[in-house]
Amino acid sequence: MADSSRPHPDNVPGDWFVDLRCIDCGTCRHLAPTVFGEFSAYSGVVRQPHEATELHQSARAAVCCPTDSIGSRNPDHQILIQEAIKDFPLETAPGVYYCGFAMEESFGGSSWLIQHPEGNWLVDSPRFVKPLVEAIEALGGLRWIFLTHRDDVGEAHRFADHFKAERIIHAYEKSSQPDAEHFITGKNPISWGSDFTIIPTPGHTRGHIVLLYKNILFSGDHLWWSKGRNALSAGHSVCWYSWNEQTNSTAKLVNYDFEWVLPGHGGFIQLPQEQMKLEMKKLVHWMEQT
Ligand code: SF4
Repeated sequence: MADSSRPHPDNVPGDWFVDLRCIDCGTCRHLAPTVFGEFSAYSGVVRQPHEATELHQSARAAVCCPTDSIGSRNPDHQILIQEAIKDFPLETAPGVYYCGFAMEESFGGSSWLIQHPEGNWLVDSPRFVKPLVEAIEALGGLRWIFLTHRDDVGEAHRFADHFKAERIIHAYEKSSQPDAEHFITGKNPISWGSDFTIIPTPGHTRGHIVLLYKNILFSGDHLWWSKGRNALSAGHSVCWYSWNEQTNSTAKLVNYDFEWVLPGHGGFIQLPQEQMKLEMKKLVHWMEQT
């Protein structure tokens, strides 16, 4: 529960606030962009929500905030927040859901659920909480848990235990998930089932992998959509292994066709396929200059 006795001083006056535990993960700014804004190293309320859409978006942000930093002093809004729990997982693309319930250990990373006739996939891990687990059960449970890299494994082991699902992670990330069922090795793409391709993308970490599902790229921490740059982007300052390798991995991805980028951090985007390819080429060029 958000701590109303320790609000950030830069919140605009009103019911809704962000407290001092905020880690500046950006989740709230994506879910309720007109309400939450970024200050120097945290987010705050820049405009109090009034109309129904903004209130609903703010309630969703409160549900997803990894540090429980978002709250309202109005008891009626507590009911909205409780109601918003039922929205998750939230369908983002056909049959693909944003799980919400971000984890502080993953720095608020996004996790995704893919509903598939051969068994559902979880991409990176949200918090293992009862309402989400029950909602995933209602959507058919889990068969595979795809872990892009060591930072975003979250509570994957609990989801694996509960759903008898098999975890997939690169061997270079083994220390974060030593009892995973499948370890990817090398740098070559691997087809998995009828609709999935696992693509090693070393750079952010040595064993980072992304998942291509039909026209959707689950990009982990490799790349995302930056609203500030209005372009695909990647994080030089959060590249833990090799920026050169990350740039080369991005160049390889230009050869694949997709319309959606659903990342672990940052914004998601859908663009026509040709425009996405153009944006990918621009990203490679930008990375080469950075
Ligand atoms: S979701 Fe929570 S932790 Fe993340 S930026 Fe917003 S208030 Fe801060």
